[in-house]
Amino acid sequence: MINIPKGTKDVLPSESYKWHYIENTVREVARLFGANEVRTPTFEHTELFLRGVGDTTDIVNKEMYTFEDKGNRSITLKPEGTAGVARAFIENSLFNAPQPTKMYYITPVFRYERPQAGRLREHHQFGVEFYGSFAPQADVEVMSLAKSIFAKLGIKDLQLNINSIGCKSCRKDYNKALKDYFSSKIDKMCSTCKDRLDKNPLRILDCKEETCKAIVKDAPSTIDYLCDDCKSHHESVCKGLTSIGLDYVVNPRIVRGLDYYTRTVFEFISTGIGAQGTVCGGGRYNDLVEQVGGKSTPAVGFGMGIERLIMVLESLGLSFGEPYAPEVYIAPMCEEAKDIALVIANNLRANGISAEFDIMDRSFKAQMKYADKLSANFVAIIGEDELKADKVAIKNMKTGEQESVERDKLVEFIQSKK
Ligand code: ATP
Ligand code: MG
Repeated sequence: MINIPKGTKDVLPSESYKWHYIENTVREVARLFGANEVRTPTFEHTELFLRGVGDTTDIVNKEMYTFEDKGNRSITLKPEGTAGVARAFIENSLFNAPQPTKMYYITPVFRYERPQAGRLREHHQFGVEFYGSFAPQADVEVMSLAKSIFAKLGIKDLQLNINSIGCKSCRKDYNKALKDYFSSKIDKMCSTCKDRLDKNPLRILDCKEETCKAIVKDAPSTIDYLCDDCKSHHESVCKGLTSIGLDYVVNPRIVRGLDYYTRTVFEFISTGIGAQGTVCGGGRYNDLVEQVGGKSTPAVGFGMGIERLIMVLESLGLSFGEPYAPEVYIAPMCEEAKDIALVIANNLRANGISAEFDIMDRSFKAQMKYADKLSANFVAIIGEDELKADKVAIKNMKTGEQESVERDKLVEFIQSKK
């Protein structure tokens, strides 16, 4: 027996309707905001992520699935969705079209992490990317898009946490303040943080080690070091959120795990699913496109973990989507009726009605039991009498009612009951 690789999951046929429901919902909401789907490859040149995600991040340092292909190229399985979209934006000159470019994706994401509840090695993300706009209202739009999805799914308890981590210019003063604060405490911190102090002190704020977290608590806040432009952007974002009634808290500890963010960063956090409570994380990344080789283009977006979203829905006891059940199950009672069942089934399907019949050689009694298990709405029984009279006996499985219907009137009959 060969087992599934650690940190991966099967979506079984009995569960996939939940995924369809979520995927349909996110597509529908994305459309309401004018975002179109973009599909990029599952793997890219490793260089893209080194430059795009940043080589001081956990993703690049520890989590990437990187390998050499047969042509000796270094290839990496997508560890996030944004860098590939930025590459596609540049490579296909999407910047030449009238802006903004509003895109979304649904993609598998690969990270070599320690598997635990809410943390997989292959997970799936729905992501949104708005390119070309500096406007604070664009930041509000992407948060509003995420919120609309949660609302549509019936989730009320996700809290929006926002922060601003400024731009390159305010980051200088802030990094200095962080270094001043941490340098006297760094001995007590983890080895990764020791490394981060010189390379990228902002990363320390994202450390998951308990001892580091305790020290981080009193570190200076980015908000206090914003330049005038970043400050006014942040205030406009807050104002915009208030104007659409999107509740939020400003949380100075939110910095996000990727290097490409500038100004706004945000997370939607659930308190109901344990330690891995962040369902959606995003922000603005005005420097990313330039970082991966394009001309400077502002952008804002987010990534939403679909497995975590399902965890939240399940923890709230919300039902989403409906499992498959056939409209009609056809039960032939004799050998001769089996080909008739084939014909009836095909005719029903041609008219958009789902239909199944016995291909397991079950006894009539077992067929009825099976139809019940499938939650079929109707069973069309073909016995000797029905066969002779070109009829079926149709049983309504909800009411138990049974009536005789001409075979060529069956479609009409089912349609009239919908
Ligand atoms: P975390 O802090 O939980 O590690 P992250 O900052 O690495 O999250 P992002 O890179 O922003 O997360 O990814 C966006 C979303 O994808 C997260 O908010 C989360 O819902 C989901 N996600 C990230 N990593 C995993 C994983 N290993 N397994 C399942 N879902 C994940
Ligand atoms: Mg992570």
